[in-house]
Amino acid sequence: MTGRSSSSESFAGGAAALGARVRAGEVSARQVVEAALEELAVSEPSLHCFNLVTADAALEAADAVDATVALGGDPGPLAGVPIALKDNLCTRGVATTCSSRILTCWEPPYDATVVRRLAAAGAVSLGKTNLDEFAMGSSTETSATGPTRNPWDLSRVPGGSSGGSAAAVAAGLVPLAFGSDTGGSIRQPAALCGVVGLKPTYGLVSRYGLVAFASSLDQIGPLTLTVRDAAVALQVIAGHDPLDSTSLDLPAADYTAELGRGVEGLRVGVISDFLPDASATCSGAVRQAAEALSSAGARVEEVDIPELLHGLSAYYLIAPAEASSNLARYDGVRYGLRVEADDVATMNAKTRAAGFGPEVKRRIMLGTYVLSAGYYDAYYGQALRVRTLIVRAFERAYERFDVLLAPTTPSVAFPLGAKTADPIEMYLSDLFTIPTNLAGHPAVSVPFALGEEGLPVGVQVLAPALGEAVMLRTAAALEAAADPGARGPVRPQLGEALEGAVS
Ligand code: GLN
Repeated sequence: MTGRSSSSESFAGGAAALGARVRAGEVSARQVVEAALEELAVSEPSLHCFNLVTADAALEAADAVDATVALGGDPGPLAGVPIALKDNLCTRGVATTCSSRILTCWEPPYDATVVRRLAAAGAVSLGKTNLDEFAMGSSTETSATGPTRNPWDLSRVPGGSSGGSAAAVAAGLVPLAFGSDTGGSIRQPAALCGVVGLKPTYGLVSRYGLVAFASSLDQIGPLTLTVRDAAVALQVIAGHDPLDSTSLDLPAADYTAELGRGVEGLRVGVISDFLPDASATCSGAVRQAAEALSSAGARVEEVDIPELLHGLSAYYLIAPAEASSNLARYDGVRYGLRVEADDVATMNAKTRAAGFGPEVKRRIMLGTYVLSAGYYDAYYGQALRVRTLIVRAFERAYERFDVLLAPTTPSVAFPLGAKTADPIEMYLSDLFTIPTNLAGHPAVSVPFALGEEGLPVGVQVLAPALGEAVMLRTAAALEAAADPGARGPVRPQLGEALEGAVS
């Protein structure tokens, strides 16, 4: 139900190539941004990628880039590149809702470090993208503003929680978007939308200004059309930030330097434990990817890491525990919504009852339960021990392998509503992405093949901490061997405008 996009063809070369053209004065940032806003106006009513489009601010930022070029200055590597920001990234004076009623109309007084670095690199934000409420979900359906649709098939989910960002890139509305990944929220929607999605090593990218979900797991990363763009974007946003106490004291590296080096002699482990739990198409894509790397000179072997299958259970204790603590701050006093009542405790309770959706409430209750006296050790403590087992299992695997290969998701994009009635079914969407977050490692999903109904299938490359260069090099080799039809941009067959918007 899709065709190649024509008007977004200028993005098909990717964000970095576009930035280079603007930087060289071949095309103005204003022209680029105006064209992007026009395209957005056509597709957005059917897709609902955005919670907010900041057209005026985008045009103003584009003019500033053009003024720098006119004066002979350097506007940066992403000069005039239209980008989209997940709506859990703080933007100064611009509503940041996390797709939750509780943050309705909240305007942060500061920019996230990532947002600041992107602006300094010349990128132009078109607005804030839809997500599962507080990034809790795998389909963008828990959003209080209604679901985003998958541009490959409007009756299907784009994945989540960074579904708006993934769909915006897949539909060619922007060549670069940003998401957050706590348990797979960049990689899973990237896979379901046929785009590249990268989760960096924990601590490589500042979390300052990312609304916290589970602080020991959250990382910000890019969604792009090409592996090269993911490398360029990472370089822009990575690097030490004194405003984030978990930020690693390292400079950003040049992640593009080794992209063309190939995989000759590289040791690649295919995680065998994940293959039986993936659909035939998804495990088939991994086997095909393994063969492609092997023909390109890599030494590919299967490896058993059974501990990883316990990641999901540990994650659904650790992440809710941290969330229950992080979300305590939404009390009707400090941010957003307030439901008035006669006394403070009732006001707090009523505000939270009205402001949070069912999935967020489920997580808060689960997290509060596993942290409570008498249960703490049996649940939370046990989950932390499993986390350590997973870290050690990865350590052993990386003694033998440079990178690991796995499916990103168990299936292709599923129909809207297919998993909303069964939280466990939804949670299983992240079976293959979660272990990486528990270990703090990087991973990237690359669109590789076409599966059922002509929908894209992603393959995941995992690497040890700070292994981004070798991971991206492997990803570039996969991209070269991939079915070119498996990646965006696609022009959605436009349907009816979507209902639903939050106040
Ligand atoms: N889908 C997972 C969850 O609901 C992961 C979300 C994320 O990475 N933000 O917790």
